[in-house]
Amino acid sequence: MNYNKKSIEDIEVAGKRVLCRCDFNVPTKNGVITSDKRIVAALPTIQYLVEHKAKVILCSHMGKPKGEWKPELSLKVVADRLSELLGQEVIMAADVAGEDAKAKAAALKEGQVMLLENTRYMKGETKNDPELSKELASMADIFVNDAFGTAHRAHSSTAGVADYLPAVSGYLVQKEVSIMGKALADPERPFVAILGGAKVSDKLNVINNLLEKVDTLIIGGGMAYTFQAAKGSSVGKSLLDESKIDYCKEMMAKAEAKGVKLLLPVDCVVASDFPNPIDGPIEVKTVPVTEIPDDMEGLDIGEKTQAIFAEAVKNAKTVVWNGPMGVFENPTLAKGTIAMAQALADSDATTIVGGGDSAAACEQLGFADKITHISTGGGASLEFLEGLELPGIACLQDK
Ligand code: ADP
Ligand code: MG
Repeated sequence: MNYNKKSIEDIEVAGKRVLCRCDFNVPTKNGVITSDKRIVAALPTIQYLVEHKAKVILCSHMGKPKGEWKPELSLKVVADRLSELLGQEVIMAADVAGEDAKAKAAALKEGQVMLLENTRYMKGETKNDPELSKELASMADIFVNDAFGTAHRAHSSTAGVADYLPAVSGYLVQKEVSIMGKALADPERPFVAILGGAKVSDKLNVINNLLEKVDTLIIGGGMAYTFQAAKGSSVGKSLLDESKIDYCKEMMAKAEAKGVKLLLPVDCVVASDFPNPIDGPIEVKTVPVTEIPDDMEGLDIGEKTQAIFAEAVKNAKTVVWNGPMGVFENPTLAKGTIAMAQALADSDATTIVGGGDSAAACEQLGFADKITHISTGGGASLEFLEGLELPGIACLQDK
C-alpha cells in the first residue's frame, strides 16, 4: 500500500463543496455527550476548510443503528457542540443524502458548515452500496477522509464515495498514515515492536507481519503464555490458546531465521484468580515464568521482565506498542504496563501506540503527551500493523 497520499493542502478547496468524513462517534449518556475529544480532534481539518472558503459538508456515523432511524443516535448533539467549538452555526440536515440534505448542501455559502445525519441510518452505508455512495457524492465536488477509526471499513461514506469524487486525507488521517506508514515502510532502526493484550489469536497476523519488519519483537500480556507453553513450560491457569501453540513455535522459528530478537517475559505476577471486580483488591506474588503454580494465573509481567523490555526500548529509534502488558485495569496489575509506558515516555525514539486498550492505558496513566503518536483507531491501527490495505486510505489520491 502506498502511504504517500494527497491531503486537503494538495487540492483547491475554495468555492468547492467538500464532503468530509469525520469520526463523530462520541459517547453519550441520556442525550448528552460525555467526551467531546473526537469533535475537538476534528477541528483542525474543519477550520482549514472554513478558512479556505470551502462549502463544508460533514458526515459521520454514531453507534450502530443498523439502518434504522434511531433518534437517540442522531448527530444533532454533535452539530450543537461543534457550533460552540467553531464559533459558527453548523447547519443540521434532517437526513443523510435525502431531499433536506441535498437542498441544504446546494444552498451552502463559502465557509459555511453543515452536518449530515448519522450515515448508518442508511442500510446501504455498511454494505458500501454504490447507490448511496453516488447520492452522497452528488452533493459534493471533493471527498475528504478524516476518520481513521473507520478507515479499515469499506463503507459508502468511508471509501465508496471516492469512486465518484477526487479524494484526499484530512489532517487526522494524514498524521496516522504518515507516522505509521513511515514506521512500517521505512523505519529508523533499531525498530522495536511490543505486543500484548489478551489473546494470541487476536493478533496472529500482526505478529507474523511485524517479524518481517522489526529488529526486536517483545511479547507480553496474556498472549505471552501461549508462547511460554510452546517453549514447554506449564502456565498454570494463565490465558492459554492451545490451538495456537504450533503457531507460536512457527513464529519463534521465523524470528530466529530472520535474526529478529524475540523477547518473552522471564518472570510474572500471579494470583489465584482473575480479579473480580477487575479493579478490586488482589493478592499477588512474582515467580519465574517457568514456575507458575498450577492453581495460579499470570496477570502481569514481573520486575525483571520490565527491566529487560525497558532496556530494549531504550536503544530503539522506532517503537510501536500494541496491547497492555497485564491486566492494567487493576492498579496492582498495572505495573508492567506503566513500566512500558514509562520506557516509551523516556525514549527519544519515534513512539507509536495503537490499540484501544493500550491507548486508554497511556491516557489513564498520564503518559499520552510523551508519546509521539497515539492512534485514534483501534481496529484500523491493528490492520495497519498487519500490513493490510485499508479501504478508507487506499481510496485516496496518491501524491
Ligand atoms: P488493545 O485494545 O490495546 O489492542 P487488547 O484488547 O488486545 O489490547 O487487550 C487488552 C486486554 O488484555 C486488557 O483488558 C487486559 O486486561 C488484558 N490482559 C493483559 N494481560 C493479561 C493477562 N496476563 N491475562 C489476562 N488478560 C490480560
Ligand atoms: Mg482492545
